[in-house]
Amino acid sequence: MSTNRKLLILAGDGIGPEVMRQVRRVVDWMGRRRGLHFDVKDGLVGGTSIEANGVPLTDATLAEAKAADAVLLGAVGGPRWDKIEFERRPEAGLLRLRKDLGLFANLRPATVLDALVDASPLKADIVRGLDIMIVRELTGGVYFGEPRGITTLDNGERQGLNTQVYTSSEIRRVARVGFELARKRNRKLCSVEKANVMESGLLWREEVTALHAAEFSDVELSHMYADNCAMQLIRNPRQFDVIVTDNLFGDMLSDEAAMLTGSLGMLPSASLGAADANGKRCALYEPVHGSAPDIAGRDIANPIASLFSFAMCLRYSFDLTAEADLIEKAVAQVLKGGLRTTDIMAPGMARCSTTVMGDSIVRALDKLHAAG
Ligand code: NAD
Repeated sequence: MSTNRKLLILAGDGIGPEVMRQVRRVVDWMGRRRGLHFDVKDGLVGGTSIEANGVPLTDATLAEAKAADAVLLGAVGGPRWDKIEFERRPEAGLLRLRKDLGLFANLRPATVLDALVDASPLKADIVRGLDIMIVRELTGGVYFGEPRGITTLDNGERQGLNTQVYTSSEIRRVARVGFELARKRNRKLCSVEKANVMESGLLWREEVTALHAAEFSDVELSHMYADNCAMQLIRNPRQFDVIVTDNLFGDMLSDEAAMLTGSLGMLPSASLGAADANGKRCALYEPVHGSAPDIAGRDIANPIASLFSFAMCLRYSFDLTAEADLIEKAVAQVLKGGLRTTDIMAPGMARCSTTVMGDSIVRALDKLHAAG
């Protein structure tokens, strides 16, 4: 059936196709049970695209991605392609996708489900009920700033140089994403930088403060230095709702927050571009984990990070909040029932395959849907 909801699925390499198979079942379930049909196209990215087309992302696939409302990606990479030069590696396909879609805001939720509270390396009473969202600026800052490079100085010493640089519009557009998310959650935004020692941080603070005063005074805004934020995430992570920060600090803090949950196979992400006149944004949804070549092809990978990424897609690209909630509830129920893939296995629980986890989640969706 043709609809105006266009999805491009790029399953990629390693466990990517295995976990995306379970996502596809839930996409189909939405059509069958909720009357929400998607125009789904499949494409190649990463190593599988290198094998088929000689490049990790073709222009045609990139065009499909731009035409889609959302791209769902599995994972890319693997030892088979590790020796290829950097620009032709699987990861280069993903980087091109992010760059050419203009995905400047990376959303990484860190949520601790009750059933997995013991998977966290922190004490249960610190992380129970944790639900925070980190918004990381993704296309600016020190990873892209010029000048950069390694040069040899007159005295013969070598010098490595990178430049941390942000403009006011770059800061405002990512801060806006943070404020808008906070508005849909608990209306608290913490902006993180190092305004005490970096001019780029000072500008960041000034711009976020000005945007808050002009448009988002209904959201509670706080500022925090990045080093303090790293501590607070361990000491008292539940004080946060949404955190917005730059590319470098976001890289570190989102990985730290991820580990509060203790389970890589559970972590989704979204990367969003600028909204056009109709409010449509380019968007890419993918699990945080990689292609896990050590377990690929064995039907033991955890599909939940990818399913949660699809839930984020429903929430942020299609405004289908009830359906996103449904997926999250179905997963929580299945875990509460004691089913576990190997990566989240715990004493007394029942170990299951990727497929059985998918079966159980679809059954839980059926029950929740029937219960209205
Ligand atoms: P990884 O995330 O693939 O795996 C790390 C460990 O976690 C492995 O032991 C793996 O078995 C386990 N794991 C990961 N996801 C899992 C899941 N869903 N269920 C169960 N266990 C899971 O990271 P890595 O080993 O450093 O990298 C492997 C390959 O993936 C490399 O080629 C790397 O470049 C690539 N990579 C890709 C992405 C991406 O596509 N966005 C991200 C990270 C790494």
